[in-house]
Amino acid sequence: MGKHYGNLQRIVDGVRKYAITPDIPGGFITIEKLEKITEVAKKYNGIIKLTSGQRILITNLFEEDLPAIWEELDMEPAVTSQNSVKNVEMCPAGFCKRVRYNTIGLGMKLYRKYQKQEMPCRTKIGVAGCRNACGSVYSKDIGVIADFDGL
Ligand code: SF4
Repeated sequence: MGKHYGNLQRIVDGVRKYAITPDIPGGFITIEKLEKITEVAKKYNGIIKLTSGQRILITNLFEEDLPAIWEELDMEPAVTSQNSVKNVEMCPAGFCKRVRYNTIGLGMKLYRKYQKQEMPCRTKIGVAGCRNACGSVYSKDIGVIADFDGL
């Protein structure tokens, strides 16, 4: 399905419903993009779910609508296969008073390098700016946590 990827979520009375997750690096999104997501979801009777992976899932969609939905969103899918790097989650780091090192830049670099990379299993990476490790970074497959001495 490539660029028009959607994940089959449910089959109810023979009707197949799909979900998509637009790419939102680090969970940072512009107001305009957020408005676009809500506008498109509303048009196609989608249901929005905020995910634990700092993404916005739009579900309850029909397969035949997926190409138009992606075109109207003008965004890329965050996930195009099951066994891959699912996301690089990031805490707000530089926007937080407790930060030890602003890890957003590092997180974005990891995101650009590894996001969507094929793996033997679903793989999650987390990056946090201090030992509080917001976003459950200790429980990720790979975690990067800034400490008193920097990274
Ligand atoms: S991990 Fe630390 S720097 Fe990041 S949001 Fe949490 S408290 Fe703030």
